[in-house]
Amino acid sequence: MPNPAAHLPFYFGSISRSDAEEHLKLAGMSDGLFLLRQCLRNLGGYVLSMVHKLQFYHYPIERQLNGTYAIAGAKAHCGPEELCEFYSKDADGLCCTLRKPCNRPSGMEPQLGIIDNIRDNMVREYIRQTWKLEGEALELAIISQAPQVEKLLATTAHEKMPWYHGFITREQAETRLYSGAQPDGKFLMRERKEKGSYALSLVYGKSVYHYRIAHGKSGKYFIDDGTKFDTLLQLVEYMKIKPDGLVYYLKESTPNPDMPTASAAPVPPNHPSAKVPRKFISQNSDGYTPDPTGMGKNNWILPMDTSCYESPYSDPEELKDKKLFLKRSNLIVDEMELGSGNFGSVKKGVYKMRKKQIDVAIKMLKSGNERAARDDMMKEAQIMHQLDNPYIVRVIGVCEAEALMLVMEMASGGPLNKFLSSKRDEIPVNNVVELMHQVAIGMKYLEEKNFVHRDLAARNVLLVNQHYAKISDFGLSKALAADDSYYMAKTTGKWPLKWYAPECILFRKFSSKSDVWSYGVTMWEAFSYGQKPYKKMKGPEVMTFIEEGKRMECPPKCPPEMYKLMKQCWTFKWEDRPDFVTVETFIRAYYYSVAAKAEEESEGATKVTPA
Ligand code: ADP
Ligand code: MG
Repeated sequence: MPNPAAHLPFYFGSISRSDAEEHLKLAGMSDGLFLLRQCLRNLGGYVLSMVHKLQFYHYPIERQLNGTYAIAGAKAHCGPEELCEFYSKDADGLCCTLRKPCNRPSGMEPQLGIIDNIRDNMVREYIRQTWKLEGEALELAIISQAPQVEKLLATTAHEKMPWYHGFITREQAETRLYSGAQPDGKFLMRERKEKGSYALSLVYGKSVYHYRIAHGKSGKYFIDDGTKFDTLLQLVEYMKIKPDGLVYYLKESTPNPDMPTASAAPVPPNHPSAKVPRKFISQNSDGYTPDPTGMGKNNWILPMDTSCYESPYSDPEELKDKKLFLKRSNLIVDEMELGSGNFGSVKKGVYKMRKKQIDVAIKMLKSGNERAARDDMMKEAQIMHQLDNPYIVRVIGVCEAEALMLVMEMASGGPLNKFLSSKRDEIPVNNVVELMHQVAIGMKYLEEKNFVHRDLAARNVLLVNQHYAKISDFGLSKALAADDSYYMAKTTGKWPLKWYAPECILFRKFSSKSDVWSYGVTMWEAFSYGQKPYKKMKGPEVMTFIEEGKRMECPPKCPPEMYKLMKQCWTFKWEDRPDFVTVETFIRAYYYSVAAKAEEESEGATKVTPA
């Protein structure tokens, strides 16, 4: 579970008591000055360090079994942030109220503790092994799916580890451990006769020791009176670093011989290439699964489970055929229309590759179209051809036949605004946060590659499914030269004025910063579930409205943090506006914190990491 304090500017992470006191001294020792840090003993807990009358006070905050947080004996709160907010109004037993946060110096990140590192490594390894991802695709999967993956890890991850041998007897365990070399720390985990009960078998001094893993009423796993863990995987990872009561720490696993490949993890049942579908997925054709909590239940397909997370050309065999122009004979065009625009229509289809067939969307240019339209479509194709990101619709290529056709990955859920307005009561706001975070990841990529989109709007964010969004429609996009930071349009055109930043309208100047403005409008559309922005106004009136310093109001269901971000995107001067790196960081922190809380609301048995 992501750390629900990670986004707080006064959270220092895993620092010692004396370091905390140093920071408070540097910040001036005023009454009510405070900071938050990770508790080094109690997993998932924090310490509130504060100053009163030039004295230091340290209050441990415990994470309780039901997922709430409380200072011993005092009121419980749903998160560390809410707790601090409460004590800023009411001392309720503390030395005084919290008056002034002692924030981290700029550029300083919260200090990661041993548990954070274990957790981050677990998520990374799990994603790497389950979806066979590396490099950028791996990093992006971690960023966008950490909360979901942590939940998956919680319940089943140990079953996929090579050291997990399933149900074998004590004697069989010994046979397996005694075969081959017997270094200290060689181990395996097995299930015991009583269902749901496990044991660790460990070699030390050429003998095998067996430890029963208790599974307490609270759902935690532990050995004797040792540290309690939410998952078996965590227990093993922890005991690789600290023996915690064992004769020796866990070092080398004996791979389970019944697993298909002993060294790498087996193909788990939730991998798309596996025959058995992941059991909790019940999905209808548009990938839509009702999910009342929006974050909760492991009942949806993750982006990495879909066939369009990675490029179809990520397979080196397929890459051999990668060309901008596609053979007509490899393309099947359906009659079914997915959408339409000025240029013509978008149809469904199938593209045949060497090893697989993929679903595609085909943008068809109306026949008899003049030169300019053809050039535009070719430009769009060339731009998209240079991009490869899981949160951007990829172009497969173009095909010149009965019409000029732009062949793209299929995003069958349709445009975001339509989806949200039709499912208004079923889609929780956290789901909207998740999707807008993905849009931010895609836009951060464009910014880094020095492309400007120029038509970012909810209608141009397409859904693969309820939990997977991709940016599309690169009809107005431009690739900037390496040393340019903006594109200057020669003339104005048919522009989506309500999405455009002031400098676009006033000076025809387009940059990633003007895309940030459009991102703000897109956020507004998303959090208002597909409403039209600046409802009654005409395009040009909007400019006057903005110049008067006015901005759209916070949509009813929109969390204040998200409205705050929107307003930052609508900073008048582009120089002062945040870039996508900043926007993504901000929305990610918020997304992780709501994911953490949503889980606390569901009951505790399968919780992953103490934050
Ligand atoms: P326009 O330039 O006319 O706005 P778009 O690229 O936005 O064209 O496409 C128009 C419509 O076609 C979209 O709103 C969507 O319904 C459908 N469409 C476009 N691309 C795809 C795709 N890759 N997958 C599924 N539908 C698509
Ligand atoms: Mg469009």
